Amino acid sequence: MRLSPSVEAIPRSGIRAMAALAQGRQGLLHLEYGEPSFFAPEAVRRAAAEALLTERMVYTPTEGPGDLREAIARKLARVNGVTVALERIFVTHGGVGALYASLASVLGPGDRILMPDPCWPNAVGQVLTLGAEPVFYPLGAENGFMPEPETWPIDASTRAILINSPQNPTGVILPRAVLERIAAVARRHGLWVISDEVYDQIYFGERPHSMLEVYPEGTLAAYSFSKTYAMTGWRLGYAVLQPGMQAHTTKLVESCYSSSSMVAQVAALAALDQVEQREIDAMVDAYREARDRAMALLAAADRQRYVPEGAFYLMLPVPAGHASDSFARMLLERKDMVVVPGATFGRLADREVRISLAAGADVVAEGVGRWLELTEELARSSG
Ligand code: PLP
Repeated sequence: MRLSPSVEAIPRSGIRAMAALAQGRQGLLHLEYGEPSFFAPEAVRRAAAEALLTERMVYTPTEGPGDLREAIARKLARVNGVTVALERIFVTHGGVGALYASLASVLGPGDRILMPDPCWPNAVGQVLTLGAEPVFYPLGAENGFMPEPETWPIDASTRAILINSPQNPTGVILPRAVLERIAAVARRHGLWVISDEVYDQIYFGERPHSMLEVYPEGTLAAYSFSKTYAMTGWRLGYAVLQPGMQAHTTKLVESCYSSSSMVAQVAALAALDQVEQREIDAMVDAYREARDRAMALLAAADRQRYVPEGAFYLMLPVPAGHASDSFARMLLERKDMVVVPGATFGRLADREVRISLAAGADVVAEGVGRWLELTEELARSSG
């Protein structure tokens, strides 16, 4: 008897590996977790508690209830600037479910998909379980982590492009001009664009553009309640599909998990209808403050390479001659801080470690300070 080879091909998560090394140790600076440290807004928690006491929790329509999908359509118009017919909105088990609904609806064994390096590793795992092949396109620190779509290798097996903006793990937002260049490549070759937009409402300057605005005819977009509303554990997200796809994706989602959680749907409706923008702004302000403190420290040390514009992550370089895994272990052993080795996100990203700005401004500032200390100690000992 054997286990599934496509599952065995998924690399082990470096985030969990670091957390395992850190387990049981007191007094560590935790910069590895990609989740908000806030409670979900009170209106969300109250709506869910009330529903649990007064309603039977049952299966819902696979694509999600109509009132929630209508509220999502209003949000897409207000926040993302796109008008989307209700039948295109599919409520899912988290943003990860929205990505899977999109990827599995269009990819099959042997199909190729262009994916960024660095990339959020769960997306790579999903592609591998489908028997499809990720082909990585580089996002290098020397280019401000921007892609060069005109250089991507595309052949007859290439079906799709994955993009993620604002991005995990770099915090980079793809400007509209870059989205347009990606759309031009996708159009020329007849490719889907799977656009991971789960951080759409976490940005520090200009609003990020949605790929749905730029490539409306070929984009499948993934969104989540996890990040905007600090609802990671509620597990709710949604995909925006293409017209005519709902029945196809319903077969897939029904086979996987029937429908998303009803209590989370009630909570999500309250999030959209009752949470005021200032509550979201207060959380984003905390991430921005952490980003600004980190940037000030890096600039003062003449070590600032780029400025993350959204999500809540910052990549810090690994000193020359070290790999991200061993450098992350050094940070743990010598500086009592936990980061994610870049190798988790791709081969090129082995030159980086990721820290989370969601850890809070003081923790982030302390972490950047310790990273500077270690890189200076290593430079002294090698020079
Ligand atoms: N996409 C990216 C880039 C993420 O970072 C995450 C979560 O960390 C997700 C998707 C999944 O979001 P969710 O937690 O809602 O499943």
